[in-house]
Amino acid sequence: MEHDVSGRRGLLEILSWARPHESDTEQAFCREFLDRVPGMKADAFGNRMIAVGKAPRILWSCHVDTVAARGGAQEVTVSDPGIAALRHGKSGMSLGADDGAGLWIMLNMIAASRPGLYVFHRGEEHGCLGSQWIRRTTPQVLGGIDAAIALDRAGLFDVITHQSYGRTCSDAFAISLASALNELDAGFRYRPDNSGVFTDTNEYAGLVPECTNISVGYYSQHGPRETLDLGHCEKLLAVMLRFETENLVIARDPSLCDDAAWSWQDELGNRADLAALVAEHPLLAAEMLLEAGITSDDFWLAAWERERGGGADYRPLSSL
Ligand SMILES: [Zn+2]
Repeated sequence: MEHDVSGRRGLLEILSWARPHESDTEQAFCREFLDRVPGMKADAFGNRMIAVGKAPRILWSCHVDTVAARGGAQEVTVSDPGIAALRHGKSGMSLGADDGAGLWIMLNMIAASRPGLYVFHRGEEHGCLGSQWIRRTTPQVLGGIDAAIALDRAGLFDVITHQSYGRTCSDAFAISLASALNELDAGFRYRPDNSGVFTDTNEYAGLVPECTNISVGYYSQHGPRETLDLGHCEKLLAVMLRFETENLVIARDPSLCDDAAWSWQDELGNRADLAALVAEHPLLAAEMLLEAGITSDDFWLAAWERERGGGADYRPLSSL
């Protein structure tokens, strides 16, 4: 089936696909929307990417997966002021403007031949799996890239300077990006914001000088009440179609980490490494847990608590 991604109709079509990681719908979406773009490539993890123009210096980033218990079609409604939402939203569903909005903007930038390396990551909502895979397995993909800009932030105003890694882009870069956007749309009020957590570009912060994430207009992501400000998203695309990246200030040295977030980064890395080992040797992991006095009931309770807490961090069992 041929899908036209242009205009509001294209954006609403993308939002009508619930695409949890590894679902049939996610795979079908990749085939039908991404693989048909001439020149689009897939890596061994299934991330899709395409370079437009010679030796691009800007990496544009979004993710394909959405938060949903099940893949499939979903009905989207648009209210008067141009706010999209699910028509019959229930728990276990989300509008998926996180990150359908970024994905739509990128597909339309490619269609307009705007220069850049466009990366459509898989598995962002499961811990940035696709970008982690690129960082560990094919870091050469990032060669020559000065700035990795994710289109994957809630709200309307943020140019993210800090993620879980610590500082991921310089203030000079963030200010140059924010003012370039604001100059192209009189209604925009982008400004640096240091309250990011993580998205795919966080993975690249040790390799790429400037790594950020900018607001694309969604709110209340990851749940049935997620909305998207369609007008903002459309204006951002219009700006991107005229945006010249030459004047962005590249100032950060990715080999230096300028604050204490390293320990947090190390901890995240250790946790991911351990999780990979546990997945490879589940019986050994179970034996070790039992020896440490943790039963399947304890484990089940902790997992349940964590789900209820909406992704809150693991707390020691003693505090449950
Ligand atoms: Zn996202």
